[in-house]
Amino acid sequence: MRWSKILLPTLKEVPADAEAISHILMIRAGLIRKLTSGVYSYLPFGLKVLTKIEKIIKEEMNSKGAQELLLPAIQPCELWQKSGRFEALGEDMITFRDRHKKLNVLGPTHEEVITALVKNEVNSYRQLPLILYQIQTKFRDEARPRFGVMRSREFIMKDAYSFDCDTQGLDVSYDKIYEAYCRIFKRCGLNFIPVEADTGIMGGDASHEFMVLADSGEDKIVKCKKCEYAASLDKAEILKIDTLKYADDFQEYEEVKTPNVRTVEDVADFLKKDIKQLVKTILYIADQKPVAVLVRGDHEVNESKLARILKTSHLEMAGQEVVEKVTKGPLGFSGPVGLIGVDLYGDYSLQGVKGIIVGANKADAHFIGVDIDRDVKVSQWADIRNITADDKCPCCGQGIDIQQAIEVGHVFKLGTKYTKSLGAAYLDVQGKSNLIIMGCYGIGVTRIIAAYLEQNNDDFGIIWSKEISPFQALIMPLNTDNQEIMKEAEDIYKLLVDENIEVLFDDRDIRAGMKFKDADLIGIPMQVIIGEKNLAQGIIEIKLRKTGRRLKVESAKAAQEILKLLDDLQ
Ligand code: ATP
Ligand code: MG
Repeated sequence: MRWSKILLPTLKEVPADAEAISHILMIRAGLIRKLTSGVYSYLPFGLKVLTKIEKIIKEEMNSKGAQELLLPAIQPCELWQKSGRFEALGEDMITFRDRHKKLNVLGPTHEEVITALVKNEVNSYRQLPLILYQIQTKFRDEARPRFGVMRSREFIMKDAYSFDCDTQGLDVSYDKIYEAYCRIFKRCGLNFIPVEADTGIMGGDASHEFMVLADSGEDKIVKCKKCEYAASLDKAEILKIDTLKYADDFQEYEEVKTPNVRTVEDVADFLKKDIKQLVKTILYIADQKPVAVLVRGDHEVNESKLARILKTSHLEMAGQEVVEKVTKGPLGFSGPVGLIGVDLYGDYSLQGVKGIIVGANKADAHFIGVDIDRDVKVSQWADIRNITADDKCPCCGQGIDIQQAIEVGHVFKLGTKYTKSLGAAYLDVQGKSNLIIMGCYGIGVTRIIAAYLEQNNDDFGIIWSKEISPFQALIMPLNTDNQEIMKEAEDIYKLLVDENIEVLFDDRDIRAGMKFKDADLIGIPMQVIIGEKNLAQGIIEIKLRKTGRRLKVESAKAAQEILKLLDDLQ
């Protein structure tokens, strides 16, 4: 491919609305262009990468006996009402009314559609197990589309679904896909870790997320410093910690004035106390009912844990109106003392604590010297907070690290969640009808590119691995007016193309300096530099993008050398 013929618009400047390095590089290196918020076009260079990733995915899925199919993006909304997820997905769902006034959904995922299909087509144990997958565009009206294709409103997912007779069968299918995922992410060049994950609104028994470590990641994961334990924040169980002791252990709690200080940080500052001595009282609405949650001042509520404890999929933080109605006080001064009419859920770290500071449920006031057992009616103690770096590994009790990560894949053991609501059953050997046992497995195909770039870049641009790079070699004649240089470049180009190497030929009539800059920016693993001085001595130069290593080779042997070097490249 000749650069002069391919649509590969590189940019010198950092685009104004791009924050994450992957987003910046995808724009600057001409992989994508934004159409509107969270919606991107893939230019030829970007599409090549995407196609390579899809090829890896297909090879690995096929090798596990999974079959590819293609399901429709347009789905009747009744199907989602049947499974009970129409409301759970809420505003993320992109819907439209057709000319017959029927409401349709643009598929955000395909559990419903595939279960409905399998219900009709599979009826005997003889047809099971079955693993089906597709690579397809998904639509989600994300609240905050961010970082380019990392979190977009239209993105490509590989989604797979397994159907088995029993849970043992599901375990086998799950393990197969788990293995395939590890191979896929490794071949894509990602430094990833599988973590135990919450099953959330998907329901089901077990789940793992495949996480790529990166500072720009929107998720956090917990990793033990010693053992193999790794989990998402929503899943990470917290070992009970010692209840902190405070001197302010009064006979009765006392009211203090805290004019205009609402946040725990401000109250702690104002009263000159440690933030840990404060207790946050946060109101939520769970299934239309208000509940109050108590966590230590320096801790954060984990809403997934809370939703699990409350057995709800409809959880949201209460607004000002509800807070005022329930606490009879203004926002920012809520506290658990005397709070009636709502269930109080307390985090384990507060069990038995005395001498704490809480909101007084009235403006500009807090209570100090509160004894939680004496003054507060906690309905249930539970693990409802995010684990912190001060907590210990729930497996071995050693220290933990908390790291930012990007979720690139997710696998779930669903069980009968969808086969039950949609009625997908099979007849066993005895002719008895049983529900099919299901698993579902997703990979963010477009997100893989962003995740890869977060981990593989330097100050000059992208560093592609051989397997997903759009081209393996870039031929760079430094002066297109020089006929000898051009002849040499054309010869090498032809030889490599004949060997089925994907080569980009920078035939643009631009300054050498610009060619070098662009070459490093677009990140093709091998740069073949043909310049006047070297060529006069029968030499061309090869630069490996990843290591920066430069080699001089005889021009007559250039093609063979390049092929050999490419073979050794990762
Ligand atoms: P997230 O928590 O990041 O929103 P999710 O749990 O909603 O992800 P799944 O429904 O499990 O994601 O989808 C499978 C995969 O699709 C995810 O692991 C992720 O890699 C990818 N994905 C999900 N939402 C998006 C999005 N808005 N843009 C790009 N990729 C996405
Ligand atoms: Mg999501």
